[in-house]
Amino acid sequence: MEQVVIIGTGCAGLTAAIYTARANLSPLVLTGTQPGGLLTTTSIVENFPGFPEGIDGCELMQKLQKQAERFGARVKFGHLESVDFSGQPLKLIVDGDPLETRTVIVATGSSPRSIGLESERQLEKYGVTYCATCDGALPQFRNQPVVVVGGGDSAVEEATYLTRFASKVYLVHRRNSLRASAIMQERALKHPKIEMVWNSVVTEVLDVAQKKVTGVNLKNVVTGEAGTLACAGLFVAIGHTPNTAVFGGALETDEKGCLKLFGGTRTNVPGVFAAGDVADSVYRQAVTAAGTGCAAAIEAERFLEALEHP
Ligand code: NAP
Repeated sequence: MEQVVIIGTGCAGLTAAIYTARANLSPLVLTGTQPGGLLTTTSIVENFPGFPEGIDGCELMQKLQKQAERFGARVKFGHLESVDFSGQPLKLIVDGDPLETRTVIVATGSSPRSIGLESERQLEKYGVTYCATCDGALPQFRNQPVVVVGGGDSAVEEATYLTRFASKVYLVHRRNSLRASAIMQERALKHPKIEMVWNSVVTEVLDVAQKKVTGVNLKNVVTGEAGTLACAGLFVAIGHTPNTAVFGGALETDEKGCLKLFGGTRTNVPGVFAAGDVADSVYRQAVTAAGTGCAAAIEAERFLEALEHP
């Protein structure tokens, strides 16, 4: 019987692992399909306190894992398949095997959202991507024009990153002002390689017949005008969807799809806590994920104490 199972190894999961490990609870930490979480798909993290020069996202996550393991956390590559949260002990199926635990900390994060076009789906991995850091340096994008869609920090960060490889970066946004933070906007807007395409949405990705991206069809949402932009890649950066599907309705979600919290990091199931992006539609920062990971660990610890000494 486990005391604590942590699902996810992003900033939230690994911080929860550090705290529960230091409380001698020997947490079992499951990586899921993306060990290290979303920060491993970013380049330099400049806003995590304590790193004045910035730190590579992968390096930060490796350090967090090492720190958790130093205190006895057991990090395992494992994929949660289903849960039975009908009572104590909490039951999980991980890679086909049953697992029982007193508490669970859900830190499953979120996954990139797609535009929802059929041509986008068909050209995924053939020039349509959701991660500039992962794919931006591929030969097919070098010295070619590319399109980034979105107006938040992710889109602006990806556009700026892609200027290293692409001949030109079109940043297509559905409104006429960006949502991204001021400092990142400023960098992008004055970059000579970035051209803003305001008030526009992608209506089709070309060319499915050639099985590669050759351009995108656009529509101006204000004038209704349609046009085509030649490009070798489409980088979609329009936000993320919380990863809650595996709980199959056992955990309540809010109208944005995030896990609903009932004070602190408590979910609707006693003994199940949530931390990081899976339960946060507001801040969604590495440091806030780490903060809620810490809070979830403390709450799990108190829950276990109460179980032992009712
Ligand atoms: P976001 O802030 O939710 O922005 C999503 C963007 O995509 C918005 O501009 C939105 O347009 C647009 N959008 C949404 N659905 C769309 C659709 N169907 N078609 C076209 N455009 C669509 O998401 P994010 O940029 O991924 O950022 C998420 C969080 O992570 C934020 O809190 C952000 O600050 C944080 N983050 C921080 C950093 C950093 O600090 N270095 C880097 C990346 C992300 P509207 O503006 O019109 O809604």
